[in-house]
Amino acid sequence: MVPRKISEPFYHGRAWQHTRAAYIKSVGGLCERCLAKGIIKPGYIVHHKHYITEDNINDPNVTLSWNNLEYLCFACHQEEHFGSAEVTRDGLKFDSHGNLIPVADSPRG
Ligand SMILES: [Zn+2]
Ligand SMILES: [Zn+2]
Repeated sequence: MVPRKISEPFYHGRAWQHTRAAYIKSVGGLCERCLAKGIIKPGYIVHHKHYITEDNINDPNVTLSWNNLEYLCFACHQEEHFGSAEVTRDGLKFDSHGNLIPVADSPRG
């Protein structure tokens, strides 16, 4: 997992916001994996097929290349990272960028 102090500037950066929005539009706002199974389900997060790490977060070929992006619903994204659609480990949740954060950090509390 990339530390938030490193990933935060990227996810808040204009380049990612722009790429993300354009990509979501290109796939019609639907989860790509569900759609492949014939299920119409809105996507939740743009996932990086090649996971972002501290080493590649400044490499646009990884972070901003459409070839590396996949729009997924929450369940498919959970499955990708954890092998099941179960809720994450106790005390952790995904934020809107797909980073695992302590539930205590959640705006919803
Ligand atoms: Zn899905
Ligand atoms: Zn992901």
